Amino acid sequence: MGTTLEGATGTWEYVIGLEVHAQIISKSKLFSGASTEFGAEPNNQVSPVDAGMPGMLPVINMTCIEQAVKTGLAINGRINLTSVFDRKNYFYPDLPQGYQISQFKQPVVTGGYIDVDLEDGGTKRIGVERVHVEQDAGKSLHDQAPDSSYVDLNRSGVGLMEIVSDPDMRSPEEAADYVRKLRTIVRYAETCDGNMQEGSMRVDANVSVRKAGEEFGTRCEIKNLNSVRYMQRAIEFEANRQIDVLEAGGSIEQQTRLFDVAKNETRSMRSKEEAHDYRYFPDPDLLPLRFEQDWVDGIAATMPELPAAKQERFMAEFGLPAYDASVLVAEKENADFYEVVAEGRDKKLAANWVISELFGQLNKAGKGVEDSPVSADAMGELIDLITDDTISARIAKDVFSEMFETGKAAAVIVEEKGLKQVTDTGAIESVIDEVMARETEKVAEYRGGKDKLFGFFIGQVMKASGGKANPKAVNEILRKKLAG
Ligand code: ADP
Ligand code: MG
Repeated sequence: MGTTLEGATGTWEYVIGLEVHAQIISKSKLFSGASTEFGAEPNNQVSPVDAGMPGMLPVINMTCIEQAVKTGLAINGRINLTSVFDRKNYFYPDLPQGYQISQFKQPVVTGGYIDVDLEDGGTKRIGVERVHVEQDAGKSLHDQAPDSSYVDLNRSGVGLMEIVSDPDMRSPEEAADYVRKLRTIVRYAETCDGNMQEGSMRVDANVSVRKAGEEFGTRCEIKNLNSVRYMQRAIEFEANRQIDVLEAGGSIEQQTRLFDVAKNETRSMRSKEEAHDYRYFPDPDLLPLRFEQDWVDGIAATMPELPAAKQERFMAEFGLPAYDASVLVAEKENADFYEVVAEGRDKKLAANWVISELFGQLNKAGKGVEDSPVSADAMGELIDLITDDTISARIAKDVFSEMFETGKAAAVIVEEKGLKQVTDTGAIESVIDEVMARETEKVAEYRGGKDKLFGFFIGQVMKASGGKANPKAVNEILRKKLAG
């Protein structure tokens, strides 16, 4: 996958805008007191409001609204002091009201941005057009009976935020990083759990293509992507499909399409002409939402440090490279773990250990940092043993593997296995003498000018010492002895 596309008539550019549906973290639904908990038996979490019973009135859950405000602040958006709920009318079996309560002309948040990382190491600012709040629909179950479908309304009425980007992305990778960054932000803000597998975050990708410098082309929208990787594949396929149509002299019809993961292709769901006329109008059951600026300011004051600020701090205060910092802040739990390890220690060394060793082992074990068998304090103690020359970095890796397996403390393993580094120069000298006595030919070659053999001697001495000799001391003494 690249940033441009080669067609028969030349180079094309991607134009991508994303609409992300993010399920709001709240105990109860947007307009009813029913629970939002995932995984309950079908239709166990449905109030008469969610079932669309006649005469039921929606009552706004201010927790959901506060969550949307937090999200708006977290993406640098403008919080509108007045916003309006509208009815979006359409018929579908999983929508018992016959309309979805959403926001149309006056959303709760306008504008904002998310900075994404580019492959060349730079960043790019992607605009966010709006964030609005709306109800989720229920779910049709087609696999329960051979001749009928069932409807589960547990999800009906759950609060969603729809985060709509500007058409600013120019490659599937930028789109992927936008989704990852947005996911990290809402997880830090604790407004959405970002669980794409459970459907807590779903993406609609709008895709068009153009030749550089030309106006935007007609777009197609690919619905309901619930994995970043699938989204990238869907965007790439869709852009190539459009190029084929255009280069064959055809034109793009504005359509809603679905991505078939197994066939790796997008298929038309409906065209613009068949598109619903939603007949939006303000919901007469709900007054416009009005906030005091003080209330918004109060929420702003409680916002946690967000990933971009944390990354900036790790770079500026700790001197970490951008790559390390961005890996560490991708999950808040990881950043917190790292900060405990790094406290009072070499920041870069701590970052290396957390990123390469800890994340490496956790990945292999399929675990998250919250289930790490090695605590941050225990990892810090291991690093202390390296910096005070008790063990070499090489030995420390073995010690860490054992800590990960057994949960034992570093010092205990070093003691039990006799892994303490040999810094005693007398002991090191005798190992070196032994190696030189064995390798007389190589010694002669080295002295005859074959400098490259130095590494060979280092290796031999380290091996003979069981990896325990202090490498710096070995280096110094060896150099002297080889010089003759
Ligand atoms: P609508 O009003 O039909 O919903 P919007 O202008 O709100 O359309 O855009 C919906 C989404 O489509 C946004 O994420 C936007 O960035 C994206 N988008 C708009 N025009 C294009 C285009 N030409 N190519 C790709 N994406 C686009
Ligand atoms: Mg729109």
